[in-house]
Amino acid sequence: MSLEAEAEELASDLGVDKEEVMDDLEKLVSYSVPMDEAKQSLRRKYGDGASSGGGSEPTSKDVADVTPDDSNVTVTARVLTVGQRSIRYQGEDQVIFEGELADESGHISYTAWQDFDLSPGDTVTAGNAGVREWEGNPELNLGESTTLVFEDETLDVPYDVGGDRELQTLAPGDRGRNVVVRVLECERKTIDGRDGETEILSGVLGDESGRLPFTDWDPHDEIEEGASVRIEDVYVREFRGVPSVNVSEFSSVIALGEAVEVADGAPEMTVREAVTSGGAFDVAVVGNLIEVRDGSGLIERCPECGRVVQNGQCRSHGDVDGEDDLRVKAILDDGTDTVTVVLDDELTAEVYGGDLSDALDHARDEMDKGVVADEIAEKIVGREYRVRGQLSVDEYGANLDASEFDATDDDPAERARDLLAEVRA
Ligand SMILES: [Zn+2]
Repeated sequence: MSLEAEAEELASDLGVDKEEVMDDLEKLVSYSVPMDEAKQSLRRKYGDGASSGGGSEPTSKDVADVTPDDSNVTVTARVLTVGQRSIRYQGEDQVIFEGELADESGHISYTAWQDFDLSPGDTVTAGNAGVREWEGNPELNLGESTTLVFEDETLDVPYDVGGDRELQTLAPGDRGRNVVVRVLECERKTIDGRDGETEILSGVLGDESGRLPFTDWDPHDEIEEGASVRIEDVYVREFRGVPSVNVSEFSSVIALGEAVEVADGAPEMTVREAVTSGGAFDVAVVGNLIEVRDGSGLIERCPECGRVVQNGQCRSHGDVDGEDDLRVKAILDDGTDTVTVVLDDELTAEVYGGDLSDALDHARDEMDKGVVADEIAEKIVGREYRVRGQLSVDEYGANLDASEFDATDDDPAERARDLLAEVRA
């Protein structure tokens, strides 16, 4: 739709002058505000439709029936989660509340642009809630034009009320979640934030289900290495291809007297499961090593950026004097899918059976750099391995940066018995 058509529709919805709406809309769009947000902002500025008589009355709907085509609706629903977050909106900091609402028919995400004092478990009727599309799904916008009524009668819903979750079940986009975790690693860093230099904490959290990286944007004293804590109101973002837990000024951190149990191993998945999860911080897969790819064995890296150099050329730094290193990129197949396993210098030295200087001697003796990769391929191709590490998935495919790489040379009969025992358990 053209800007003019958008302005015309919005003006008629709001019952205000088209030229005025057009001016505002042009201004917002020229500041790179996305069209949906710009329209939402103007709806707030002019007061939304229903009361000004311009638009259609919002209809009461079941949550499952709300679609991105609805401009506004009225729903009665239970508040499942509430997360608080500060965002920069049109150049100003604004505190918003986000989470999920549900009725018997389904659940839906919401963003509240003001503090309605929502708590998980509340049953509310949100009158004239705006609807916008977010990644293909409808989302409710509760703003100035929304009337919010707390109902006395509690609505029964087939969903968990409250934000308590295990780390393994967290996914990018989650908000208002609570976790009970042990801080496994914690480092204080100074970063260049949106308001200049600022201190943050970053590290790794663990519970019985797994482990995930975290960032605390407003360092809490209770978060320190080894501490067991309950953290309320975290949100989850994707960082370098894996979910990351974000702790903010609105999170509360409670130190626990008892140590939280942390799983020793990584959750084992099929390659297909791991890849469709979109990325995992710590995961294990078992499969057959079917190929050692180019760029394995003795390689050269750019001294500036660490990228692999080909024919003395770095993709970003041009002609460079490459530094020798060891690496393996290999394809693992478990029958459900394939993943590229990446071994660092240490794991590569282990499978090769020698370190960097051995590899350099070897290549010099044979006058061929390729001999190192060839020898590695001879040792690992065709064998079954259990690989643990960090999985990232992007448009080029799935990469598993290995932290552990072990041949599963156990007796096939014993393996079958173990499998049967697992199936029966
Ligand atoms: Zn470079």
